[in-house]
Amino acid sequence: MQTSYVNSGLDYEGISSLVCAPPLCHDASQADTRSLTPKLEEFLASRPETPFLAIDLAHVQSKYLELQREFPHAAIHYAVKANPSPEIIQLLAALGSRFDIASRYELDLCLSLGVSPPWLSYGNTVKKAVDIAYAFACGVRIFSFDSEAELEKLGRYAPGADVQCRLLSQGKSADWPLSKKFGCDLEMAYALLLKSRDLGLNPIGVTFHVGSQQTDPQQWVEPMHQAAELYRQLERQNLELAWINIGGGLPATYQAALFPFSCYAQTIQQALLDAFGPTPPQLMLEPGRFLVADAGVIQSEIVLIAHKSRGDLRRWVYLDIGKFGGLAETMDECIKYRLRTHRFGPMGSVILAGPTCDSADVLYEKTPYALPLDLAIGDRIEILSTGAYTSSYASVGFNGFPPLRTYCL
Ligand SMILES: *Cc1c(COP(=O)(O)O)cnc(C)c1O
Repeated sequence: MQTSYVNSGLDYEGISSLVCAPPLCHDASQADTRSLTPKLEEFLASRPETPFLAIDLAHVQSKYLELQREFPHAAIHYAVKANPSPEIIQLLAALGSRFDIASRYELDLCLSLGVSPPWLSYGNTVKKAVDIAYAFACGVRIFSFDSEAELEKLGRYAPGADVQCRLLSQGKSADWPLSKKFGCDLEMAYALLLKSRDLGLNPIGVTFHVGSQQTDPQQWVEPMHQAAELYRQLERQNLELAWINIGGGLPATYQAALFPFSCYAQTIQQALLDAFGPTPPQLMLEPGRFLVADAGVIQSEIVLIAHKSRGDLRRWVYLDIGKFGGLAETMDECIKYRLRTHRFGPMGSVILAGPTCDSADVLYEKTPYALPLDLAIGDRIEILSTGAYTSSYASVGFNGFPPLRTYCL
């Protein structure tokens, strides 16, 4: 079975040897005073009830176009789980994006919005047999696996489908590592890709994910070389793999220092050429966070400011949103969001917490965060770059708080 991708012809000229400028740093002890897009500023100024997430769709569009510009030959599959808002899916579909789905429910969502099934990949390596059969019946033709049992399910319930084998990844330097749970080692990948052919499936390549919010461009280099070595070994068994899927991981703008985006793109594409030579397999990307995070802002309100004892200088600041309202990625203080208030006086350190009656609902305790000393109960506070993995993580009603409202502008 052929994949329906259009190959625009490989032309990697112009990918120069790299000069990556030093990373740009944010300092949590300083107020973030930069403006959001005018559309977002105007909406926030209208003071809808908090908490909510507002997304500037024009920003999502510009990120998609930037990605396309930097990776002119890649097939882009938006990882729907990052933010499944219908408006985002429709916008990306109109721009020509494909989609990576994690469940039959995301499949139904994409289909209901008019996305064509051959544009979908089912990248989750943990799927029920009935869901594989359902997706296959719907016309999905690209599936991932990382174990023998999953491969056998695919052979049985998605006969002839295009399959890709996920490799283990370290998740080093990633703020939200996905290591261990996914992927298999190279030796197993070799055996399973050969086996997939015997099962009547169409092996198209390997996939790996270097960890979400990966800030170090070099982390894509080694897996690329490992994949190339595997491809050479498989070629000796007359198995040629046409694709390489480098998953997601491209970073958004939190506290961490980032290289300019072109540095990630050039490092990755140079590694592809170095590893595979002048006619590399086609590149597939599954960006989630990169496309939507910076387009979003959560507006929240300060519910309480408290001290635990007299003379205790550290203020506890309780917001009307916490880990269960959409900020799940503050787990272990992994993702360090930038905050913005509307006061500009001297700063003092804070512990930030959410509003629920659960002691796990603390956002930042170890990470140094500072907010203006004249901050008051009832003030609004903006949590920046929160367009990814927030609304889709919010609980349905823990402590009675409703799921995070989203406005796509
Ligand atoms: C979550 C996920 C992605 C998206 O990762 P980001 O770091 O958000 O870009 C891509 N591919 C797969 C298989 C995923 O599970």
